Amino acid sequence: MNLTLVRNATLLVEYANHRFLIDPFLSDKGAMPPFENTENQHLNNPLVELPMTIDEITRVDAVFVTHLHPDHFDEQAKQALPSDIPIYVQNEADKQKIEEAGFSAVESFHQDVTVGGVKVIHTEGQHGSKEMTSLTGEVAGLVFTYPNEKTLYVAGDTIWYEGVQAAIDTHRPEVIVVNGGAAQFLEGGPITMTKEDVVRTHEESPDSNIVVVHMEALNHCLLSREELHSYLETRDNTGKILVPEDGESMTF
Ligand SMILES: [Zn+2]
Repeated sequence: MNLTLVRNATLLVEYANHRFLIDPFLSDKGAMPPFENTENQHLNNPLVELPMTIDEITRVDAVFVTHLHPDHFDEQAKQALPSDIPIYVQNEADKQKIEEAGFSAVESFHQDVTVGGVKVIHTEGQHGSKEMTSLTGEVAGLVFTYPNEKTLYVAGDTIWYEGVQAAIDTHRPEVIVVNGGAAQFLEGGPITMTKEDVVRTHEESPDSNIVVVHMEALNHCLLSREELHSYLETRDNTGKILVPEDGESMTF
């Protein structure tokens, strides 16, 4: 497989001769207001430009959307994606909303689906502490499997919790994409993975490659790549934890 981090959680996945797009967030730099109640109220989102053209990003066979927060599916994505492109979403509520935005081939992956021979399995996520999830709402992750490919687990917007452990135990993924950035508001704690969560994921699945994304693109993401890198140096990093730059590709 080949993974390309576009920006934030937006990923291009080449897998079993298909090209998939995950969580398209395609706005120009600064085109959206900051998330409210954060330390960085002076910064508009996204903080950085896309590393490639929207045409290159949207030329795909199918799209997967882990949840409908605007840093995972935005107005620009609605404009740029063809209205008949297959879009897979976490549940019926999200399906209805994306259909209302004018898309005609939307399906839920809550019951596992097969896309061009690739089995795609729904996993649970927890977008912050239990108390925060009443605000952040339901989220999902995805596992991709195919006979001649390594198993890929895209955890989505989740902190480390027993659901991530369960997905690792059940699917034994060789590649795990986690959303770092330690996104947070003034209160309530992190709603995506902290540096400690990233290392915990590695410790619980030491043979897997861990790819950390969802960094340095949003005003409420406080964990930088530099801080994560220096933390990993002190934790005897085995080289299994990868922190790609925007636009960087990795082959597994
Ligand atoms: Zn997010």
